[in-house]
Amino acid sequence: MFNELYLCYVFVFLIGSCIGSFLNVCIYRLPLEKSIISPPSACPKCNHQIKWYENLPIISYIFLGGKCSQCKEKISIRYPFVELLTGVLSLLSFMKFGPTPLFFINTLLIHSLIVITFIDLDHQIIPDIISLPGIIIGFLFSFIPGGITWSDSIIGILLGGGLFYGVALLFYLLFKKEGMGGGDIKLLAMLGAFLGWKSVPFVIFASALVGAIGGISFIIISKSKESVPIPYGPYLAFAALIYLFYGKEIVSFYLQYLL
Ligand SMILES: [Zn+2]
Repeated sequence: MFNELYLCYVFVFLIGSCIGSFLNVCIYRLPLEKSIISPPSACPKCNHQIKWYENLPIISYIFLGGKCSQCKEKISIRYPFVELLTGVLSLLSFMKFGPTPLFFINTLLIHSLIVITFIDLDHQIIPDIISLPGIIIGFLFSFIPGGITWSDSIIGILLGGGLFYGVALLFYLLFKKEGMGGGDIKLLAMLGAFLGWKSVPFVIFASALVGAIGGISFIIISKSKESVPIPYGPYLAFAALIYLFYGKEIVSFYLQYLL
């Protein structure tokens, strides 16, 4: 019995890291508006087509010594990192939710958040092609029993989109510059759709807190006085992950101490 469970864990991790390999393709190609299906992956420098055995998650990177097999161009450590991260988070999701529909729903959300995080870091955009369908998919999934209700989801969309729009507008009126972009608003509406309205106050508060810490550390480390546009999507994604795993505890904390 125990052995079978561990076998499941290994299986989920392996599938997760293979999906991570696909997420790398999405991260690279979606912002460039290239197809995520074809052509097959190639070295960006010498165009060498990557063979299947050079494309195994994490392992191939180690075997290739982090270099293209043809031109020896360095491969970013981020590729195996995303594969490892996707594998680990998929496994944690399985350990938390078990073999249930909720596992598939939440793991899909996690995978979308990984793509959003790295695209936002690279390009300071959150692609509508993920967030807008995400709002609809999150809402449709709320009809599957076991998770939030459809009314939780729809209020989450309105609260996430609306509240954040309000904060962004206030920021604009106060400082006469854009603090948060439309992409962040659509992402928060998507999170509301998947996680329900109770997640929205937490995600806003936690992302602002982590964002402030991140922003201040960045200024200290880089010693620059210029304000650089720091993407906000990764903070939203991080807060959403915390809520996804500890939502129940967080909500009962609200009810106990704040109401
Ligand atoms: Zn190459």
